[in-house]
Amino acid sequence: MASSSLTPAAQARETTPIAARAWFPRVRVCIDCRTLLGPKETCDGGRKHRVASLETRAGRDALRTEVWGPPSVRRRAKQLAKAGGTSLGAGSIFEGCTGCGDCGSVALDAEFLPVVAVVALIAAAGVLLYWIIAKIYEAIRAYQNRPRPNGGITKPPSLGRRPGPRGTVLGQTGMLAPATGKPCVAWALDLRNKRFLGTDLMLHDAETSGFSVKLDDGTILRVPGGRVRLEGPKERLDRADAPPVDGFVQTINQNDDPEDEGLEPFPYDTVDEIVVRPGDRVRVFGELERDVDPAAPGGYRAANVILVPKGVPALRVEQQQ
Ligand SMILES: [Zn+2]
Repeated sequence: MASSSLTPAAQARETTPIAARAWFPRVRVCIDCRTLLGPKETCDGGRKHRVASLETRAGRDALRTEVWGPPSVRRRAKQLAKAGGTSLGAGSIFEGCTGCGDCGSVALDAEFLPVVAVVALIAAAGVLLYWIIAKIYEAIRAYQNRPRPNGGITKPPSLGRRPGPRGTVLGQTGMLAPATGKPCVAWALDLRNKRFLGTDLMLHDAETSGFSVKLDDGTILRVPGGRVRLEGPKERLDRADAPPVDGFVQTINQNDDPEDEGLEPFPYDTVDEIVVRPGDRVRVFGELERDVDPAAPGGYRAANVILVPKGVPALRVEQQQ
């Protein structure tokens, strides 16, 4: 497709890598629920959630072990996938022949030659058929033996048991959603490997460029830029339809061991995305604190009290614009 025929959003998507405009550095990951975290952060899921650094070899290995198994298992799985079915090698059909040349020494009458030719052709066709079946069998075995990734053992933490006020999202869009390229103020991504229902979540990530919510009682809630927790309507895309997501995952995909080539730490084939846009109706979860509006002129600060989320902001999109 020519780039001139793309919509502005699609053009921006082609040219803007999300890592370059990330609102927090993705340097840690919870290996239990696969949520990406910033520096020194623990998982919102609590102390039982194990967090590994993506910046150290030990941390990356802990993640890879969780996804593909320990190094010995990873090597074995790769060998099996490469070897395919070895019990039915096409070469075995020739094993009975020593290549001594005896076969050729039988004297033949000329009148038998056409018969011999037909028999030889049938035999050749038989060998070819056997070889084709053996190759198909090998391919099936290789497919069955391929290494299979494991998703997170628990789900990322939900919004919590503290539903708060509802309101309407205000402000300008400050970012593009990585998968769909929609202009938005916040997004969440789930990367899944569909083959494993139940434990198919390989990566969870969410961030906001910062926005305000006009709550129904008129109070303003200010959500600062950074990590966020979101629930809401999801849009599902195939990996092939979201190339910028691929580019982003590559930036946190460092491989330390040539043996692990092809065993990505975040394997996925499906992307689920949630976006928050101005005008959306949202419900705020978790504790809120009072703060003075930093944008208000000095003399009026006391009259401009706003609310801010305590900890990582948590919101549910209830109605989209
Ligand atoms: Zn976690």
